[in-house]
Amino acid sequence: MLKNDTYEVVIGLEIHAQLNTNSKAFCSDKVEFGAAPNTLVSPISLGHPGTLPVHNKEAVNMAIMLGLACGCDIREYNTYDRKNYFYADLPKGYQITQMDTPICNNGKVEIILPDGSTKDINLTRIHMEEDTGKGLHDLDIENTLMDYNRAGTALVEIVTEPDFRSGDEAYAFLSEVRKLVRYLGVCDGNMEEGSLRCDANVSVRPLGAKEFGVKVEVKNMNSMTNVKKAIEYEFERQCKMADAGEEIFSETRNFDALKGTTFGMRSKEDANDYRFFPEPDLPPLVVSQEWIAEVKSQMPALPKELFARFTGEYKLGEYDASILTESKEVADYFLAVCEYSSNYKAAANWVMGAVKGWVNSNATHIGKFPIAAATIADLIASIDEGTINFSVAEQKVFPILLENPTQKVGEIIQEQNLALMDDDGALQKWIDEVLAEFPEKVTDYKSGKTNLIGLFIGQVKKKSGGKADPKKTSQLLAKALNG
Ligand code: ADP
Ligand code: MG
Repeated sequence: MLKNDTYEVVIGLEIHAQLNTNSKAFCSDKVEFGAAPNTLVSPISLGHPGTLPVHNKEAVNMAIMLGLACGCDIREYNTYDRKNYFYADLPKGYQITQMDTPICNNGKVEIILPDGSTKDINLTRIHMEEDTGKGLHDLDIENTLMDYNRAGTALVEIVTEPDFRSGDEAYAFLSEVRKLVRYLGVCDGNMEEGSLRCDANVSVRPLGAKEFGVKVEVKNMNSMTNVKKAIEYEFERQCKMADAGEEIFSETRNFDALKGTTFGMRSKEDANDYRFFPEPDLPPLVVSQEWIAEVKSQMPALPKELFARFTGEYKLGEYDASILTESKEVADYFLAVCEYSSNYKAAANWVMGAVKGWVNSNATHIGKFPIAAATIADLIASIDEGTINFSVAEQKVFPILLENPTQKVGEIIQEQNLALMDDDGALQKWIDEVLAEFPEKVTDYKSGKTNLIGLFIGQVKKKSGGKADPKKTSQLLAKALNG
């Protein structure tokens, strides 16, 4: 984090999230990332004369869901506006957006900072709008190529209050928002592919000042790290300007990821440059209380709710709970194991350990993990019942399951002869051997060094190939040494 004892940085974020709808915001063109250019465009997307837009209910549902998850007020009477401007990626010459009647107002998102403290970031609004097409500048040296597949896809724009005071806070907010939209399934949250885009408004003011400084808007950052870097660069740049007595003017700047710097693009346009006017082709959208209740009933559990459940009902530590709620897929898998096992701590350890280990080493996601949650629960039960111990489960049974996920845990234990040995005769034989091999240690033990018991147990375990039941072994050992 930047340290400056003269100035303070003030940041507000504007985040565009591409909604995971099947079709576009106002027509039935399919939404698909990576389709061949200009194959997902109809006359409506292109704004041909005589075409009319229609609301996409799924997009509205998603906007409502996101608003509810952030504690926003959901607007009943929604209208749309046209934002007019000319650019090659905007075939209609205007964007349909919500200028004066955003579907969500207020609300907040709690962020967790690197030092573990929390802070609420207030939302100004979330409104619905449509996306532009995409200009491809680097495929052809002489020309910019246009792909209109994205034109008209549904977006929400989340606008925050100027509540951030560091790049770290902005970073934490983005990761929280990304987690949230992924949980809700409303957006894939991928910043690199542009499904989630962030503009940062940055200003500085003398420490202790009440008034905000003039803000600069930075665009074109395609990762959370770059947003943080751009903010930190801007803070430094603006501090230097303020020190030199230079005037900071409202402008739009671009982030250069290679240099880690920002450069001026254009002076900031005013709202009236866009000639906003009410969209005449769309009737007002009325969101009833029943509609909101219906969306609420379909909403999945939020990460915060799951965290509370894991630390409360399941009695897990905060660290475990935060790892298990990192993504919905991980939380869902853990919950599925817990449907078959009430040993929640063991379930958490398996998911965070062996399961996530497999996911990481295969550079994939938990959806691809081959072993059913019920089978992991069987593994936990086999340990709890004392049939096998943890290391046999993890090092022997688990790898076999990975190869053969449908095999039963009990079958593997039997076939591979892995059950713990609690047969007195065999154990006693190994104990006798071990005590004979370490006569000095036995003398030491008898003269009071009783913690040598661990060494004897270890040796017996080794002889048994890991199968000696540790409890039984230590009972028999105690008898042999003390008797
Ligand atoms: P504009 O009219 O330029 O779009 P808005 O008032 O709509 O400005 O705010 C856009 C974003 O800029 C919001 O996220 C808001 O929190 C942020 N913002 C507003 N003023 C400042 C400021 N002085 N410094 C930093 N961010 C600001
Ligand atoms: Mg604005």
